[in-house]
Amino acid sequence: MYENVLLFIDGTWCRGSEGDWMPVKNPATGEVLARVARASMADVRRAAESTLTGFRSWSAVSAFDRYLLMRKAANLLRERADGIARLMTMEQGKPLAEALGETLHGADVIDWFAEEARRAYGRVIPPRKDGVYQLVIKEPVGPVAAFTPWNFPINQAVRKMSAAIAAGCSIVLRGPGETPASCAALVKVFVDAGLPSGVVTLLFGAAAEISEYLIGHPNIRKITFTGSTAVGKHLAMLAGSHMKRITMELGGNAPAVVFDDADIDVAVQVLSSQKFRNAGQVCVSPTRFLVHADVYDQFVDGFAKAAEKTVVGNGLDPTVQMGPLANDRRVEAMEELVSDAVAKGATVKTGGRRIGNVGNFYAPTVLEGVSSDSRLMNEEPFGPVAPIIPFTSFDEVVAESNRLPYGLAAYAYTRSLKTANMISSAFESGMVSINHHGFALPELPFGGIKDSGYGTEGGADALDAYLNTKFVTQIGL
Ligand code: NAD
Repeated sequence: MYENVLLFIDGTWCRGSEGDWMPVKNPATGEVLARVARASMADVRRAAESTLTGFRSWSAVSAFDRYLLMRKAANLLRERADGIARLMTMEQGKPLAEALGETLHGADVIDWFAEEARRAYGRVIPPRKDGVYQLVIKEPVGPVAAFTPWNFPINQAVRKMSAAIAAGCSIVLRGPGETPASCAALVKVFVDAGLPSGVVTLLFGAAAEISEYLIGHPNIRKITFTGSTAVGKHLAMLAGSHMKRITMELGGNAPAVVFDDADIDVAVQVLSSQKFRNAGQVCVSPTRFLVHADVYDQFVDGFAKAAEKTVVGNGLDPTVQMGPLANDRRVEAMEELVSDAVAKGATVKTGGRRIGNVGNFYAPTVLEGVSSDSRLMNEEPFGPVAPIIPFTSFDEVVAESNRLPYGLAAYAYTRSLKTANMISSAFESGMVSINHHGFALPELPFGGIKDSGYGTEGGADALDAYLNTKFVTQIGL
C-alpha cells in the first residue's frame, strides 16, 4: 500500500504548513501513486531551529547508547525490508530484488556506523615538557544539512544519516520528492528505535530554496550532498561563503577498460549487468567502454547479446532485470544523447529507442563508433546506454580514461598483474575495481576526486567527516 508521505519535523510527522502536496508517480505505469507533503519556508525554519535542540540532547548521549539505538534501527529496517522494497520499486522503478538488496544493505550501513561510533578515538600526543598533557578529542561537528537524490532513495540517505547520528550530530535531510516513501521508511526505523525529537528531520520540497536557507543558517555546521556535479559546485560555493564543512558525492563518467588478455566472458557478464543495474542510474555505473582492438568484436557481440537478453519491465515482476528510468527527464535525456552520438557518426548496435508509450522504459543500448566529442563521451549519461570504443595502446587508453574532469569510479579487466597495477595507478579516480565490481560495501571508502567531489562516505574515514578535532593542552599546577 503506497500512502501519502509526510514531513518529519521536531519529532512529529506532519503536512506542510501551507498544505501543499506534490504527486508521486510510478515510473513503470505513469500513474500517480500518492502525494508527498511539500515543506513551506516556515517548515524549513522550524527544522533549522529544532535540529539544534536535537543536537544538544543527542550529542550528550554516550557513544555506547548511540550504538545500541542504531543497532535496533538496523534490525527494524531488516524486519521491514520486504514492504519497504515494494514501495521503492513502485516509486523508483528498480527491480524488487535490487530494492530489497538496497534496503538490507542500508541496515548493514547503520550497523557499520553504529560500531564506528564506539571507535571515535582521540589521541594523546607526547609532550616536550614534563607534566604537560596534549589531548586530541573528537567532537560531533553539529547539526548537518543533507541533500539526497532519487536513484538510491535509501542508500544515499542512510550513509549520511548513519554517519551523522553515530557521530552525535543531528541531521536535516532534504529527501527526494520523486521517491519519498522508502526514504521516509528509513527515517521511521530510527524514530521507532527511540531517536529523540529533533535529531532527524525529513523535508521534501523546493531543493534550491531549502538548500540555500539551510546552508546559510547559523545552526547548520555541515553540508553533505549527493547528486550532479553542477548542483554540487553550486552548493559547495554557498557552503564556502558560509565557511561550512562539506562532503560532495557527485557524478561520474567511469571508464571501463578491457585489455586483450582479459577474460572476455567475465568482462561482458560483469560490466553489462553493472551497466544496466538500476537502468544505468548509478553514479559509479561503467560508462565509457574502452576495449582493446584485438578483442573488440568479441566484446561488442557479447555485450549486445547481454543487452538484448535483459528483461525490461515493471520491477514488481520478479522476472524483470531492468525497470523503467526513474523519471521522464531521463528518457528524454537518453533520446538526446543517442541522437547526438548518431549525428556525430555512431552506429546503434542494439536498442537506441524508448519501449512502448506507457512508463519510462528505454531499451538497453549499445553504440559503436562514438566520437569523443559526443555528449555521451563527456557527460554523465545516467541511463542504460553503453558506448564501446576500440583502443590499441596502454598510453592511449590511459589518456582517454583520464580525459574528463570526473574521477569517481574506473574499471579494468586483464589477466596480467603488471597491467592491473599499472592501470590502477594511472587511473585518476577515487575508486578502482579490477576484474570484478567491488564497490560500496559499508566498510569500504566511497567517494570521488576532481569534479566528482570529495570526502568518503564509507569505511574507516567516513565518520571523521562528521567530527571536529579539538586540541586540549594542560599542565597540573
Ligand atoms: P539535478 O541535478 O537537478 O538533481 C540531482 C539531485 O540534486 C536531485 O536529488 C535534486 O533534488 C537535487 N538538487 C537539485 N538542485 C538542488 C539544489 N539547488 N540544492 C539541493 N539539492 C538540489 O537533476 P536530476 O534530473 O534529478 O538528475 C540529473 C543528473 O544528476 C543525472 O543525470 C546525474 O548525472 C546526476 N545525479 C547523480 C546522482 C549520484 O548518485 N551522483 C544522483 C542523482 C542524479
